[in-house]
Amino acid sequence: MLESTLSRPTYARIDLDNLAFNIRSVRRFIGEHVRCMAMLKANGYGHGAVECSRRLEREGVEWFAVATLEEALELRGSGVSKPILCLGGFYPGQEMAGLSAQVTPALFSIESAERIDKAASERGKPAAVHIKIDTGMGRVGVPFGQIGEFADRLRALGNLKAEALMTHFAAADDLNEDQFTADQMAKFDQAVTAFRDRGIRPAFIDLANSPGAVARPASRADMVRLGGVLYGLSGDVLPPGIAKPELRPVLSLHTQIAQIKRIAAGTSIGYRRTFVATRESLIGTIPIGYGDGFCRSLAGRGRAIVNGCIVPVIGRVSMDWVTLDLTAVPDASEGDAVILIGSDGASSISAEDVAAAAGTISYEITCGLSARVPRRCVGEETA
Ligand SMILES: *Cc1c(COP(=O)(O)O)cnc(C)c1O
Repeated sequence: MLESTLSRPTYARIDLDNLAFNIRSVRRFIGEHVRCMAMLKANGYGHGAVECSRRLEREGVEWFAVATLEEALELRGSGVSKPILCLGGFYPGQEMAGLSAQVTPALFSIESAERIDKAASERGKPAAVHIKIDTGMGRVGVPFGQIGEFADRLRALGNLKAEALMTHFAAADDLNEDQFTADQMAKFDQAVTAFRDRGIRPAFIDLANSPGAVARPASRADMVRLGGVLYGLSGDVLPPGIAKPELRPVLSLHTQIAQIKRIAAGTSIGYRRTFVATRESLIGTIPIGYGDGFCRSLAGRGRAIVNGCIVPVIGRVSMDWVTLDLTAVPDASEGDAVILIGSDGASSISAEDVAAAAGTISYEITCGLSARVPRRCVGEETA
């Protein structure tokens, strides 16, 4: 269903076969015995959490993770039956809804442990929780120095089942930070021992994000939490120069030329007249802008593929329109396809390329595509 007569021609194409290719490729690389938790937070890094979860479920992914309870409930509402970890935990008032939907909270404070224990007791059913240890990321997690006290207080709560102990790497994608990552792993080992010494023996030990899972075999443990590699965003997430699984981009971004103008030298284009033609030029306007998540910082830096040629974004990026210099593509016509992320023959623009031009990482580019950009899934399941 790539065509829809009701929508403007701007859309993100989500190749679910490539998503399946990536999970198979990563599994082969890290070992089939390691459980995989697929990260679906922020609408699956902008790829469409529901559609991605369906395909990943069929590919045998054991666990899903999201950032918020709202995201977890969306997946449950769409029929996901695999376990779902809510990385942000449950905020006051969310406990019952979360537990009733069989969402597993990450736990990083005694305060939330007590709330969830109370809700579990009211339900008459123990609640599984994953305990997050801060070994160096410094965001959320039980502070390393308070592990013993935390474990003692947790043990006193009768309605919680510690199903996993987890931690998160701060710099596993940077080989210069190898020592810091090794220290995080050592601290985590000590934390696991401290919990075991107090009789708390979780079924899963998990540490690794994408770069950990690929670059740090010792961090694979029972389960790895995979985000970037699933979506094929390896350029921004894996250290350069290491052995890695083959990955394919899942998302491409498409539109069409809405209007073409031939302008004389000296003519300006767009807000504040930042582009002034130095020669007679062909300008194509495309229906996408920062309101769609096409960053305003791409003015004068972004690129597009038209008829197999790479052309520059010129002038300001506005909310709904972007202008391209098509002078090098004299045969371009209104209605021609334009690729903003993706490839056509030898010409290719990756999400990582767009991110570099915009001064960010590919995750922010794909996450940032707004709800105005329809995600059109292709692949076996949708055929
Ligand atoms: C987002 C996230 C991951 C996945 O990170 P990638 O680098 O995309 O693989 C893993 N663990 C936690 C806690 C996360 O928040």
